[in-house]
Amino acid sequence: MAAGRNRGATSGVTQPPARAAQASGTWLRRPWFLPEGRRLSEPVWRQRHRGMTAFLWLHVPALFGFALTRGFAPSAAAAQVSILLLPALLGSLPPLSRNVRSASTSLGLVIAASLLVHISGGSIEAHFQFFVILAFLTLYQSWLPYLLALLYVVAEHGIVGALDPRSVYDNPAAVAHPWRYALIHGGFVLAASCANVLSWRLTEQEATRDGLTGLPNRVALLDALDKTLQGRGRKSTAVLFIDLDNFKDANDAFGHEVGDGLLVALAGRLGAQLRFGDMLARLGGDEFAVVLSDLSHPDDAIASAERLLRTLNDPIRIGEFTLSADASLGLAYADGATDGADLLRNADLAMYQAKRDGGGQVAIYRPTLHTAVLRRSELEADLRVALDAQQFVLHYQPIIDVTTNRLVGTEALVRWEHPVRGLLAPGEFITAAEQSGLIVPLGAWVLRTACAQTAAWQQQGPDRAPLTVAVNLSPRQLLDRTLVATVAEALHESGLDASSLCLEITEGSVIRDFETTMPTLNALRTLGVSLALDDFGTGYSSLSYLKQLPVNIVKIDRSFVNDLGSETPNSQIVLAIIELAHALGMRVTAEGAETPLQMHTLRAMGSDQAQGYLLGRPMPGDSLSDLLEAEVRETGTVPAPRRDGDDLPVRPTP
Ligand code: C2E
Ligand code: MG
Ligand code: MG
Repeated sequence: MAAGRNRGATSGVTQPPARAAQASGTWLRRPWFLPEGRRLSEPVWRQRHRGMTAFLWLHVPALFGFALTRGFAPSAAAAQVSILLLPALLGSLPPLSRNVRSASTSLGLVIAASLLVHISGGSIEAHFQFFVILAFLTLYQSWLPYLLALLYVVAEHGIVGALDPRSVYDNPAAVAHPWRYALIHGGFVLAASCANVLSWRLTEQEATRDGLTGLPNRVALLDALDKTLQGRGRKSTAVLFIDLDNFKDANDAFGHEVGDGLLVALAGRLGAQLRFGDMLARLGGDEFAVVLSDLSHPDDAIASAERLLRTLNDPIRIGEFTLSADASLGLAYADGATDGADLLRNADLAMYQAKRDGGGQVAIYRPTLHTAVLRRSELEADLRVALDAQQFVLHYQPIIDVTTNRLVGTEALVRWEHPVRGLLAPGEFITAAEQSGLIVPLGAWVLRTACAQTAAWQQQGPDRAPLTVAVNLSPRQLLDRTLVATVAEALHESGLDASSLCLEITEGSVIRDFETTMPTLNALRTLGVSLALDDFGTGYSSLSYLKQLPVNIVKIDRSFVNDLGSETPNSQIVLAIIELAHALGMRVTAEGAETPLQMHTLRAMGSDQAQGYLLGRPMPGDSLSDLLEAEVRETGTVPAPRRDGDDLPVRPTP
């Protein structure tokens, strides 16, 4: 939003009515003092109009009959009611516009009311029919029929009252002063119209306001967006979809009253940041939307979004608590949208993307987002099914003691036996599982299965040193409060000793949320499991963190091991990592050993353990059982390299 504009002028307000009418581009400019309701949807309008027009047509035989009973000759009675035919016909003609048709029918009904007065000889009781008609006109939810009724009543009572007073009035004072009484009638019609308009506007407001914050709700927002998109505002309008991050947690932790207080306070803050003409709405729960109009440059919308994000971040006091809200914002420009719902959906998709990227940020809608989000939600749905249908399997990759060449453990690596796409590597689904939270139940299954399998292998070979198993933990699992209990349960159920389980974590997942993860890591160590720092060298590789983390094993990433033997700086890095880890009392596992030369170098450098295709690919549990038996038979030999691809099929990289 450009600087120097009329900022902060509104607080959660909708467009002022006059501006809204301009935006809607209607042929009749509505003065600011006239209320504007929601434009009825086409089917609703058509249904109501059909009823009103039928009501008008009914007046034709009814008034004709009434005229006959009042002593009119049939031809005179027919002449009287024939005045209704033109407005009734115009109201019944579909090609005419909505305004012309509703105006014709409304005018016809008001004329019918005045005919009743004429036929009754100006009887005062017949005048009440006007108020019946006014009540019916409310159905159009528009000010135009009332205006027509008012003008008609005053003109008709005045002019006809002056020419033939007895056909309009039956009281002598009115007969003597027809125009004065025309104005009195007009005054009553105006008052009744105002009462009717007020009634439908208040009822409508009730349905279009959010009860908690008093802001417009989704219905009102979509209405305003539709109007903007129909008018000239399309080029300069954008919508922001705001969703608070972790609002549910705050609600659960501090109670609903504090949650409600927070929503009201944040609504006030957001509103205070908007310009005159912008609109803030609450869509429900912790979701808000902002319509930014009259943007002089698309970048103004981004600046606004960032400002709103900062505003939400500022600490806020609710009762005795000081809270601060983080939010994910999706921004969509009106340009590409077909209607309000479409535009809001685009902004919602962008918000979803912002959440996926970690929350607390703004994402802008792009058409490709649609397919990406769709594909991801399909993948997530498939993952959910896969978990229930037990389509996941674990493969185990041997880990070798470098000095003895003995198989000392395995790393459990998950695969998805997809019914259509075949065996899938974790790279194809772990991110989606993490983002959807499914990694928590999936990770628990991996833990239980790996522990049970390793306990079974240990029982098969009681004479050898207990085989260990390494299980990967994703960042999301580390933040899960039930992790320690899940690990303890997996150990308890399988009977595996804690010292045989190693949990692999990455630096990034710890450093990103150091305060939360450190107690978890310490609790895991207290259980007796060991911790390995996976892919070391690729992330921060921060020495100060390494010193603080309660890890016992450092796994050197395979990208460094790959270069071993050649004269690259990576060789020196591997040596430095090994020496550093040893100095800190940690053991080292080198990943990705693929050639005898690499193994030789690792041995010379003092690596404790190694893992790689040379020593064994990840393989199904049965194949690893065979390997263990073979190793027992020829004790002391390195297990044969397995290149026969019983693990993942080779796929072209996308
Ligand atoms: P990681 O923990 O670093 O696992 C080692 C990866 O390197 C495995 O890939 C393994 O197949 C591959 N690898 C092992 N030796 C060699 C080699 O000599 N050369 C080459 N080129 N590659 C080798 P995979 O199985 O595709 O797993 C990829 C990543 O997926 C893992 O990296 C791990 O971060 C993640 N992952 C696997 N299983 C799980 C799981 O159960 N839970 C979680 N959270 N993550 C998992
Ligand atoms: Mg690993
Ligand atoms: Mg690794």
